[in-house]
Amino acid sequence: MKILFLHGWHSIVGGVKPTFLKNAGNEIINPALDDDDFDLAVHTAQAEYDQHQPDVIVGSSRGGAVALNLDSGDTPLVLLCPAWRNWGTAKFLKTNSAILHSRKDDVIPFTDSEELLANSGLPSEMLIEVGDDHRLADPEPLKAMLDACERVLSGVLIREMWTEVKQHGDLSSAATNMDLDRYFKACGTIRKAYSQNKKSGETGLRRILDTLLGCHDDWRICCHEAGHAVVAVKLRIPVNKITRGEGTFGEVQPIHDASDNCDQKSLVRYQLFYAAGAAAERIVFGTEKRTFDELVDPLEGDRQQHEQLESHERLNAFGIDIEETIACFGGEDGKKIIERVAALLKERRDKDGRKGQITQEEVAEIIGDKLW
Ligand SMILES: [Zn+2]
Repeated sequence: MKILFLHGWHSIVGGVKPTFLKNAGNEIINPALDDDDFDLAVHTAQAEYDQHQPDVIVGSSRGGAVALNLDSGDTPLVLLCPAWRNWGTAKFLKTNSAILHSRKDDVIPFTDSEELLANSGLPSEMLIEVGDDHRLADPEPLKAMLDACERVLSGVLIREMWTEVKQHGDLSSAATNMDLDRYFKACGTIRKAYSQNKKSGETGLRRILDTLLGCHDDWRICCHEAGHAVVAVKLRIPVNKITRGEGTFGEVQPIHDASDNCDQKSLVRYQLFYAAGAAAERIVFGTEKRTFDELVDPLEGDRQQHEQLESHERLNAFGIDIEETIACFGGEDGKKIIERVAALLKERRDKDGRKGQITQEEVAEIIGDKLW
């Protein structure tokens, strides 16, 4: 990784943290920032960013505030107890970033970082509680900093890989045409997924993407599965499991599939059920995407189910609008319900690993409905 490291107030260039990142095999750009003139510090950092185009920006304390005030496009940030209240005007953190902070920090309060996340509407998992002080220079926080860099960068690259897959149209041509080496070289997380899935071609790429996305988008996937689960209860579709797998996606499996002798009304219910994962993602994460096609990645099982339904001869009115699916969640409280179901699913998965699952009764209880 190429990392732009922005040091804190009265810290030295080449300190413990940039040295640690460098010794881990990364290229570090570590400019000296003016301690008195904040605007000048931002200006210096901006020039270094523009010249070197780093993969990740790490900012420590006042350097975190510098990082937040940079014009840095999609480049992810890793902020160590950022002093954003004390310096600069930026009050938002972009997605694909992470904050490391200790609750015992007596210089910059932990609550400042919580507030930064809340301002930005970002999930709490982007704030990593680590270390015993403001410096974060002990072995544990140092390792957490390196892991966070890997994590935010892999997030960006995985998205890029997905975009490429979509552009190629299907997985097998993507697997032949994509410059996978570039991704493997850029990021250890991707290399690791690759070495765990040493199959080439289409199967290999699919498994890599599944592993990576599953690990990376944990909360998103929990919300997605919660969406299926909530709509299943609302539309009275019995399911036999609601799980969130480990290192892969989750599953909400109906007991009966939409069968050949399903009537039109049931087929529509199933369509809504399969679109509910994507709809839940839109409700929670607020993307601008509106159609099923835009929301569901080409490789998701939901799409295959949807296509199967679409080709069903009894179904003449196809074309579920995502708004119709969203309406199934029951208005204003929809988001809260999805998040509560997702939190329960995540809790079960964290506790029981792959076996972690929730029941339809539990979902009904959260919704406040009686199960049929
Ligand atoms: Zn789904």
